[in-house]
Amino acid sequence: MAYALSLRHVSYTYHSLKQETPAICDVSFDINPGEFVAVVGPSGCGKSTLLHLIARLLPMDQGEIKINGYPLAISKEKVGYMLQKDQLLPWKTIYQNVILGLNIQKIKDPAAYTKVNLLLKDYGLEDFRNAYPNQLSGGMRQRAALIRTLALSPNILLLDEPFSALDYQTRLNVSNDIGTIIKQEGKTALLVTHDLSEAISMADRVIVLSKRPGTVKSIVPIELSCQERTPQSSRNSTEFKDYFNQLWRSINDS
Ligand code: ADP
Ligand code: MG
Repeated sequence: MAYALSLRHVSYTYHSLKQETPAICDVSFDINPGEFVAVVGPSGCGKSTLLHLIARLLPMDQGEIKINGYPLAISKEKVGYMLQKDQLLPWKTIYQNVILGLNIQKIKDPAAYTKVNLLLKDYGLEDFRNAYPNQLSGGMRQRAALIRTLALSPNILLLDEPFSALDYQTRLNVSNDIGTIIKQEGKTALLVTHDLSEAISMADRVIVLSKRPGTVKSIVPIELSCQERTPQSSRNSTEFKDYFNQLWRSINDS
């Protein structure tokens, strides 16, 4: 079976009239279908650049990216992107927001709308369909943003520091909710974060990038002994602290 996502020797340099900024350098890794992988690294090391390349928001510079075995240039695979801010439109209701992508892409298939309704029901937003984003908590808004992304049935989900705008307590709850939803939906996900605990609690593997230009320093599989692993139960597992120390050392030894 093809990898859900595969990067080979990917490098990217920003060019301006004044200077060149190499952002990432020779990055290679693979993600299996259904796997949840986190990318950690110091601020400015090229994490967002990496996601922009995969989402085709930046043109390829060097190297190759494949989704489900197809090079990006010819692939029709759908990539979902979730950002730090939920980016819900305040003047639209939650339902109008979650079907926004379907409307923009002129998708009329009733099955897509049935799926949205199911997601709203399953993830506790059914009673808020007609509410406006400012009537919801930060966590609920982030769940709505995820449902909007899932509505388009993406092959792979990219998450760029999706919880960093939330306060600590909310972040724990929301990352637990979002992580559980992504696993339940069987989605392949690539999460960028600078929060090591978040990475360990959510990911099957953690990729550590060096400081800019980001290169892969290590790839750490996370194996926890807790039953029914969720982001929350992961944090309470006995191995959690050891992984934290291992990743901490990997990030800080230069
Ligand atoms: P991260 O997400 O890890 O914080 P980014 O991918 O946003 O890092 O940025 C990596 C590096 O590239 C940073 O040093 C940043 O200043 C630089 N950079 C990002 N976007 C641009 C741009 N549009 N033009 C020039 N340099 C950029
Ligand atoms: Mg970033």
